[in-house]
Amino acid sequence: MTTSSEPAASHAGWHFDNSYARLPEVFCTRVNPTPVAKPRLVLFNRPLAQSLGLDPATFADPDAAVIFTGNQIPPGAEPIAQAYAGHQYGNLTRLGDGRAILLGEQLTPAGERFDIQLKGSGPTPYSRSGDGRAALGPMLREYLISEAMHALGIPTTRSLAVASTGEPVFRGEPLPGAVLTRIAASHIRVGTFEFFAAIGDTDSLRVLANHTILRHFPDRVNSEHPALGLLEEITERQASLIAHWMRVGFVHGVMNTDNMALSGETIDYGPCAFVDAYDPAAVFSSIDRHGRYAFGQQPHIAAWNLARLAEALLPVLHPEPETALARANELLESFEGRFRRHWLAAMRGKLGLFSEEADDASLVEELLRWMQRARADYTHTFRNLRRNTFAKPAPPTDDAFSAWHRRWTERLARQPQSPTEVARRMDAHNPAVIPRNHVVEAALAAAAGNNLAPMERMLTALAAPYDEAGQPAELLNPPPPGTPACRTFCGT
Ligand code: AMP
Ligand code: MG
Repeated sequence: MTTSSEPAASHAGWHFDNSYARLPEVFCTRVNPTPVAKPRLVLFNRPLAQSLGLDPATFADPDAAVIFTGNQIPPGAEPIAQAYAGHQYGNLTRLGDGRAILLGEQLTPAGERFDIQLKGSGPTPYSRSGDGRAALGPMLREYLISEAMHALGIPTTRSLAVASTGEPVFRGEPLPGAVLTRIAASHIRVGTFEFFAAIGDTDSLRVLANHTILRHFPDRVNSEHPALGLLEEITERQASLIAHWMRVGFVHGVMNTDNMALSGETIDYGPCAFVDAYDPAAVFSSIDRHGRYAFGQQPHIAAWNLARLAEALLPVLHPEPETALARANELLESFEGRFRRHWLAAMRGKLGLFSEEADDASLVEELLRWMQRARADYTHTFRNLRRNTFAKPAPPTDDAFSAWHRRWTERLARQPQSPTEVARRMDAHNPAVIPRNHVVEAALAAAAGNNLAPMERMLTALAAPYDEAGQPAELLNPPPPGTPACRTFCGT
């Protein structure tokens, strides 16, 4: 499917160059979004539009919603659905974009390249039995959480717009339909490689590896064995990403290999949530009955997913199969060390530690064990540590906590930084506000009744998550006692 596309800038600022659509035919299928009855813009991300080189004024017009439901294709776009596979809860399945369509790759004024994808834009050849659609609630949820993650400084896909369709989707009951415009460094997943490995198409594997290296790791292009470099870069980025998740208490919820992006961005916000009380076993997805994707499991699952990637890449890693296997194993074994390094650096930041001591990991782990026993709120505990106090309604301190606190204070005294410097470091690593589940659910319920004010308020608060001043109390504080545990559903 080669149509060479000369990037052409439009008055709205569209400037597409669609490298993925130029890859061989097996990579994707050309398909247009299915127009919807009544496009209406619900949320629009002006700063993001600007950074993409789009003119926000053009989209202020209510008619502009037609772009964000796929009723109108922007100039230069070449809509495609991408082919991929994925291990879902451990089982390999052929998937592909069943309800998403890639419009193309926008070149930004800063010289970057971003996928512009519509999610919920109608059926594709990969839809299987699905309707290709999405409900408004989950799309608003993805917008909110992905933008919160971005403001937290965590690599993530982003959200440019949510537009409602004026059509119902049926998820056991009729729900309002919507389309999310998702922005990503790319949508290449572990599952994209698995797709070609599963059909034994080594040529395409090589093409995909080259494409991915060019796109995300251009420094590795001229190395002797670029695919090994690719695997190493991805291993490193995933180690760093998961350490970020653990730092802020984020539970992805469905870390299937099709939901792991090679760019190192968090992708596919389905049944995700942030932990309130610290609990490594925390699970929010209603279908994750065995806790495969529990909070504390995430580093292990990332390593498992990387092993699936390495297996898929084996034929192109190195001309000598034995060397390929040996190098792949070395890289996979390096994941734990890489993760521990990123994690410890993040946790040192959370505790205001500048120097490194051998006992730091045990200091962190002692606090975490106490938090788990006391069912202490993860975000609130860290945020309050520097005040040497626990504001209500956090659990009361006890002897174990006091002992830990003494240990920590002595540790702080062994580094030269002033209390102000320590506090500043802690504040930079410990968010004051996170998208607390009960507040997210309330905002979504209000949005379903056409009241977007709570959603807008949350978006504003979460745009500056490390600032405490002026933030709404319901986001600063743990959920009130008796708040029901959050359950999120995969049928999004
Ligand atoms: P997800 O659980 O969102 O990662 O999706 C897993 C797979 O199911 C992907 O191939 C999706 O494209 C597909 N899928 C999810 N929802 C739908 C839907 N409503 N219609 C068609 N395909 C879907
Ligand atoms: Mg997915």
